[in-house]
Amino acid sequence: MNDTTKQITYLGAALKAPRISEAATRLADQARDNNWSFEDYLAAVLEREVSARDASGAQLRVRAAGFPAVKTIDDFNFDMQPAIRSQITALTSGAWLTEARNIVLLGPPGTGKTHLATALGVQACHLGRRVLFATATDWITRLAAAHQTGRLPAELARLRGYPLIIIDEVGYLPFEQDAANLFFQLVTTRYEHASIILTSNLPFSAWGAVFGDQAVAAAMIDRIVHHADVIVLKGASYRLKGHDIDPLPSIKAQQVAN
Ligand code: ADP
Ligand code: MG
Repeated sequence: MNDTTKQITYLGAALKAPRISEAATRLADQARDNNWSFEDYLAAVLEREVSARDASGAQLRVRAAGFPAVKTIDDFNFDMQPAIRSQITALTSGAWLTEARNIVLLGPPGTGKTHLATALGVQACHLGRRVLFATATDWITRLAAAHQTGRLPAELARLRGYPLIIIDEVGYLPFEQDAANLFFQLVTTRYEHASIILTSNLPFSAWGAVFGDQAVAAAMIDRIVHHADVIVLKGASYRLKGHDIDPLPSIKAQQVAN
């Protein structure tokens, strides 16, 4: 190692940019072979550091988000849901995050709601956004804990700092009135400021029963859907694919009987 290389290693460490020293020597040979300008060489070296930082930042954000499993849009088989392919493709630019728009995924169990919510969340992490994922029940538990200790406003303000939160499984369990109220506040503090992805197995018309109050449900749906893409998934559960299991035999039997 010559003196200049040693100095570059030292300076890279001092800048906490270890990839600079790694790239500097390697790219210098390439630069000499290809007659790069000094500027081209410097840009190439700095670019290595920046892209490595972005990648490790994205990894940290994915880990911090609390996804139940990491899924991607590439993993999603659109042949199962052909109607939504163009809608999802249009979202991959990430413009919806900049505009603080919401995404609502509706459909029966096993049709890919959690998968797509996660995949869009993972993509947001790669676009530099911090994300938090939890089920509706978990969000209520967290907010109720904050409320009990007088920290609700602070907690809502903290959450507002996240450009995206994902609320999975709205509708699996009905909310008590206090819980519905907390949920309403979560939605209101984010309105036109930061994005929400929300999934539900129920159509909007059934949300009144979930929130125990038609007026609260209507006000909430209004705020969520005002700037939102609503994506409706259809068909049989992917989980049961190839198992030849009828998930609701009793209902079918009843229909046949009628
Ligand atoms: P939901 O949240 O609608 O109940 P999930 O998103 O949890 O359904 O999907 C259930 C399982 O099936 C997950 O492992 C998911 O990755 C997978 N899955 C669902 N739909 C698809 C699809 N179209 N392509 C690939 N995997 C899918
Ligand atoms: Mg799910």
